Amino acid sequence: MTDIIRLLPDSVANQIAAGEVVQRPASAVKELLENSIDAGAKEITLNIKDAGRTLIQVIDNGAGMSPADARLCFERHATSKISAASDLFRIITLGFRGEALASIAAIAQVELKSRRDADDLGTQILIEGSVVKSQNAVQCNQGTSISVKNLYFNTPARRNFLKSDPVEIRHIMEEFQRVAMVYPHIAFRMIQNGKTVFQLNPGSLKQRLVQVFGTSLNQKLVTVEESTNIVRINGFIGKPEYARKVRGEQYFFINGRFVRLPFMHHAVESAFTELIQDDSHPIYFLYLDIEPSNIDINIHPTKTEVKLLDEKHIYSILKAAVRRAIGRHNLTPAIDFDLDPIFNVPEPSPGQTINPPVIKVDQDYNPFNTSTIRPPETRFRIKPNTEGWEKYLELPEADPSPSDTQMEIPQHTESNSDSVSDKHILCIMGAFVVTSVRSGLMLIDIKSAIERIHFERFLKNISLGNGTSQQELFPDQIHLSPQNALIVKELLPELKALGYMMEALGELSYVVHGTPSGLENQDIPAQIEALLENYKNLGEMHGNNKNAALALAAAKNSANTLNPRQDEELKALIDSLFACEMPHQSPSGINIIKILNTEEIKELLR
Ligand code: ADP
Ligand code: MG
Repeated sequence: MTDIIRLLPDSVANQIAAGEVVQRPASAVKELLENSIDAGAKEITLNIKDAGRTLIQVIDNGAGMSPADARLCFERHATSKISAASDLFRIITLGFRGEALASIAAIAQVELKSRRDADDLGTQILIEGSVVKSQNAVQCNQGTSISVKNLYFNTPARRNFLKSDPVEIRHIMEEFQRVAMVYPHIAFRMIQNGKTVFQLNPGSLKQRLVQVFGTSLNQKLVTVEESTNIVRINGFIGKPEYARKVRGEQYFFINGRFVRLPFMHHAVESAFTELIQDDSHPIYFLYLDIEPSNIDINIHPTKTEVKLLDEKHIYSILKAAVRRAIGRHNLTPAIDFDLDPIFNVPEPSPGQTINPPVIKVDQDYNPFNTSTIRPPETRFRIKPNTEGWEKYLELPEADPSPSDTQMEIPQHTESNSDSVSDKHILCIMGAFVVTSVRSGLMLIDIKSAIERIHFERFLKNISLGNGTSQQELFPDQIHLSPQNALIVKELLPELKALGYMMEALGELSYVVHGTPSGLENQDIPAQIEALLENYKNLGEMHGNNKNAALALAAAKNSANTLNPRQDEELKALIDSLFACEMPHQSPSGINIIKILNTEEIKELLR
């Protein structure tokens, strides 16, 4: 018998490692950016084509590499950053396994150009699927430029796994932002398909956050600062009044790396209890510095979870620090004078004529014409499909009188239809509707019901392009972060179909003249921010189905903001629910309806 165990060739080992290190284009972006930072760069440019599929290039003005290092850096476990296992515990640089470049070069065509300040000529290396194709001395700028072309060219299965371009771009932007948010003194630029999407100049941390997330952030932040011997905390929290039902920007960094810290998240949220509604979430950007030996170091380079040895103490320090920051803000809220736009109105120069503001109104609007006004409860008015009801409502003594013309009951109702309008319904805690049906007691989750109803309506509107709008008397201007601006641009036709009447005012601003019927009377910037936040969180889930993701994002928004309490509203809600194609389950997968039959009720009481 011959021996059968063989060592894998390096190229195969590298491809396997690449599976972990380069899960998607954004992971390569992160590794390359971190390398540039480790190399001491003061200016870093990220250049992306086709969501990273065809090109990811990172150009820096850092230390550069010698010709020998330029060749060696693509070897597995080649690193200038550690030399012994013990180094792992005091490492402060970002990457530390010497695996990133080897992994990337295993699954792409890579061109590296690098020159140290002291050298006249730099080095160019072409490497493809771990095979070095050429190495030349070339003229190039000081620093390093790495171009990763055709990622996954030799691992088609992985390439096919990639999500749609917008989703991959969002991941790339997210990684870019997470790095840029930690190094405000470094200039960053991100170019995508030839267009600059971020141009971040060196400045203070607050300036950097505002550059990344949009000018509206400026007025929302309160400084947090705390220094103890187990942790140093600095950064910002959002003022309580800016907390939203949708989770917005919530970032933790430990020693300069983005991390997820569910336990510390809890500390922050609990510092806000009683100041914000239970289902609202504060914004935060918190930077923790902790002695590396107090972190249970997670050696996996792509993981964002870490374990802190002094968790409980850090929890209370953090909570107290946030509490104090809120307290300080509450004592001096008026300090923010200079941020109020009212004080920023420029004085007219002498001789300048001032045009009165023009307000566009709908000339045909007639408040007495019932076809143009919508009473509030019509938010839920979709033609009830009474068939859905029959299953539940055939009460033995039911009187089949489809008399309620207001409910717009369609033709086929001559049978045993039963609108909820003549039933007793109860609203419990603003969250559930209870009513009796033939087989027992029917419970409906209000929030999920709204989500279902609006999801179906919005989806139809987006696909057919016939969403109705509610004109705003005073158009609102919104300012977006570069990331959100990109999403709005990508979604503009769908947003319009949904009923948003909006026009671009430059790259990052829009003027909004109208919002979808059913979402009127809400603060427009907050509404659109929440919509985009929902969309980002859902984009992944819905893969390429943009319409469904947008419809659900908008539906979640309405479920968070609408609060039907009146009998009429609740009845219309139930009717609309049963007019839905899938009344039983919310689009997020939660059961909307539960019927307790006699047996179950008895069981409950036993
Ligand atoms: P690690 O960062 O864990 O050391 P990498 O594979 O990411 O592993 O990089 C290998 C080595 O290549 C680094 O240790 C560094 O010496 C060198 N290197 C990588 N990128 C750059 C860069 N942009 N500028 C200078 N040196 C770099
Ligand atoms: Mg690295």
